[in-house]
Amino acid sequence: MNKPLKQHLIDPEICIRCYTCEMTCPIQAITHDDMNVVVDADKCNFCMDCIPVCPTGSIDEWRVVETPYSLDEQFEWTELPEQAEISGGDDSTEALDEAMAALLAEAHAGAGGKSVAPASASKPSINLHTIGKPVTARVQGNYRLTAEGSDSDVRHIILDMAGAPFPVLEGQSIGIIPPGTDAEGKPHLPRLYSVSSPRDGERPGYANVSLTVKREPHGVGSNYVCDLSKGDEVQVTGPFGATFLLPDDPAARLLMICTGTGSAPFRAFTMRRQRMSAGAAGDMVLFFGARTPDSLPYFGPLKKVPDSLLKKHFAFSRVEGEEKQYVQDRMRAHEDEVAELLADPNTHIYVCGLRGMEAGVDEALANIAESIGLPWVTTRDAMRAEGRYHVETY
Ligand code: NAP
Repeated sequence: MNKPLKQHLIDPEICIRCYTCEMTCPIQAITHDDMNVVVDADKCNFCMDCIPVCPTGSIDEWRVVETPYSLDEQFEWTELPEQAEISGGDDSTEALDEAMAALLAEAHAGAGGKSVAPASASKPSINLHTIGKPVTARVQGNYRLTAEGSDSDVRHIILDMAGAPFPVLEGQSIGIIPPGTDAEGKPHLPRLYSVSSPRDGERPGYANVSLTVKREPHGVGSNYVCDLSKGDEVQVTGPFGATFLLPDDPAARLLMICTGTGSAPFRAFTMRRQRMSAGAAGDMVLFFGARTPDSLPYFGPLKKVPDSLLKKHFAFSRVEGEEKQYVQDRMRAHEDEVAELLADPNTHIYVCGLRGMEAGVDEALANIAESIGLPWVTTRDAMRAEGRYHVETY
């Protein structure tokens, strides 16, 4: 009998196929086929570099096995196998567990942890269109959202799915395959973008979706997308994402915290609720950070959304003559409002945007929760387990 060993796996149900882990792995132990992103047990050395970069926590799966699952087996999975009973497990399994727990605690410092979908969320479709069989969508529009001359070029892109079945829920993402090949001559991997339109389309009843994309210097995907013209054809994969979803329960209250283009899913959430006329005053609160008002995506339209539907708090970090403000500073400035939400079992928290914001936001939430006697780590972990705490940062 083989000695039990720990195998690193990826949950295919939760993975959003952003390939960040594959691009991060220093020893090419992570690979993919048309369906799944998987870890090669022969190569993985548990360096943990891939753990904190995963936006969903789908990377954080481990099984004790006697014979490791092969790549081919993992490529076939639509869900992870349960932990099989291990006969003859010995002390080494326990030691492995302890070592793994210590490594994970370190890898997870500041990261969001594994997410669970809200209990009342609709069931998402995932991975309907793969790298091998993408949908050819057509660009319906490409509009600059940020002021001309501002250092940030953020675009609102509308794609027509040309009648292909492409059901998306608010909070899900889609992949766009840039044409051409990478430095090694391989076709580019899809780049993942959060959908910023609601489930019934950017325009209700039309099979179209919108994206919010910022041009990054030298970014293969973002420059391709930001330069698209009306009528261009685009290869699209997805949809992806099974946890960062909007509760369908109209009584659910939303505390949304974002930076920059991380606002995309919250635009979708807000439009969905606007169209459903769900919720009452104070049920949606948004903390939104950007460098300047000029570079905050959808600043004009957002200001017009009534406070009774969406309470907005903007944090600007680079306004001349003003103190640098981050979302966590605005949260502290409005701690009573945040505390009241934290104390309500109907509240769902969503954090989306820069990876760097996670630690600061977590600390602000901890201070506010503890000011009303809520132990933060226990509260947050319970909220996460109940599908009420979601972090998606890149
Ligand atoms: P950005 O313009 O670089 O930054 C937005 C704001 O966040 C700026 O005011 C910035 O301040 C501030 N910021 C920087 N570090 C911070 C910290 N530690 N805590 C709090 N605020 C901080 O943002 P962006 O280029 O639009 O980037 C948005 C990010 O969201 C990208 O990384 C993108 O990949 C990600 N994103 C994620 C999703 C998703 O997860 N579904 C969707 C869309 C986008 P400074 O003046 O200090 O720079």
